[in-house]
Amino acid sequence: MDRKQVVKKFEHHFAGQPRVFCAPGRVNLIGEHTDYNDGYVFPMAIGFYTTIAVFPTRDRKLYIRSENMDELIAIDLDANEKKRHHWSDYVAGMAHVLEKEGFRLPGASMLIESEVPVGSGLSSSAALEMSSALALLSTVGGELNSEKLALLGQKAENQFVGMNCGIMDQFISMHGRENHALFLDCRTLDYELVPLKSDALRIVICNTMVKHELGASEYNKRRAECEKGVLILSADYAGIKALRDVSFAQFQKVQHKLPPVVRKRCRHVISENERTLQSIAALNADDSATFGRLMNASHDSLRDDYQVSCAELDLLVKLARACDGCLGARMTGGGFGGCTVNLLVADKVEAFVEEVSKAYERETALHPDIYISVPARGAHEVK
Ligand code: ADP
Ligand code: MG
Repeated sequence: MDRKQVVKKFEHHFAGQPRVFCAPGRVNLIGEHTDYNDGYVFPMAIGFYTTIAVFPTRDRKLYIRSENMDELIAIDLDANEKKRHHWSDYVAGMAHVLEKEGFRLPGASMLIESEVPVGSGLSSSAALEMSSALALLSTVGGELNSEKLALLGQKAENQFVGMNCGIMDQFISMHGRENHALFLDCRTLDYELVPLKSDALRIVICNTMVKHELGASEYNKRRAECEKGVLILSADYAGIKALRDVSFAQFQKVQHKLPPVVRKRCRHVISENERTLQSIAALNADDSATFGRLMNASHDSLRDDYQVSCAELDLLVKLARACDGCLGARMTGGGFGGCTVNLLVADKVEAFVEEVSKAYERETALHPDIYISVPARGAHEVK
């Protein structure tokens, strides 16, 4: 986003010469619903950023304007405010956890503008948290490393916003690198930047343009079902702490002991972890066909076993797979709407966009936004 424009908008509403920070959204290539099971994920940051212009005040208040929401909110840092069930919770939550870490914030004027489609599964929430974190820290001249900031972002979302998310979104928003996807072990937070450099391939994101309400409640149910799975499986495999600790072969041996629904949930998570590891191996071997097949298998597992897809996502995936040059197509993010991610042969992208848009529009009367994404840089100051 253009720095000048954001500063201009800031100056229209506030006083002072602001500093400017930004953080990107992300798309997860594979490894879905594995992060809160201590498993593996493989996201990349996308070139859509949330940008914040910030200038400190001395009154212990945050004046937060979101251009996307066209709204200005004031928050009193001394009032011990709780969540308002409002978009400002993400910023207030970040301020809250930073204060708990010992940073006494002076107050600030903040102007937010985001290119990340909001509520589409590309993690506009993490982009907002991470850009807020950098902006707020700058007002105290504080510094924290990227891993710590990601963890604090997750904490803000878990404890303040009340969304029990894993670490993936915040971590990739902080650690994204141009031309690389990031393979992350969500237990140890060890990560590896994997080059995604092939000129012959493209990552294409298709937006269903829908978001079904059951998302949040179903998410919490899935988490509980996974925990139940761990509990039952630990009778046979002592010492396991998460589904991450169970191999697919181990699962198969004792799966009959699990109630049917829990069995399906576990089968998804355990097989998805294995697929994610296989994906990295495939990419390292330049085997994009295998990578695409694993993406397809991931979607089918999310649809049939984890049951977090929806008619619109399934339709977009079906349409994509019917296109020439589509190596793999799957839902990405939490599910129940949002986006699909597709691996495409570069010179087939144009026809793909045309075909998928037309057919999706014909069947749903919705026009899908389609983005061709290159792995982008993580959160940083915009100078
Ligand atoms: P996602 O992270 O997939 O975009 P979420 O439901 O997790 O979807 O987060 C979306 C929410 O984050 C919005 O409803 C809003 O509260 C907040 N949000 C994200 N970006 C902005 C923004 N630019 N301005 C204000 N609020 C935002
Ligand atoms: Mg989110």
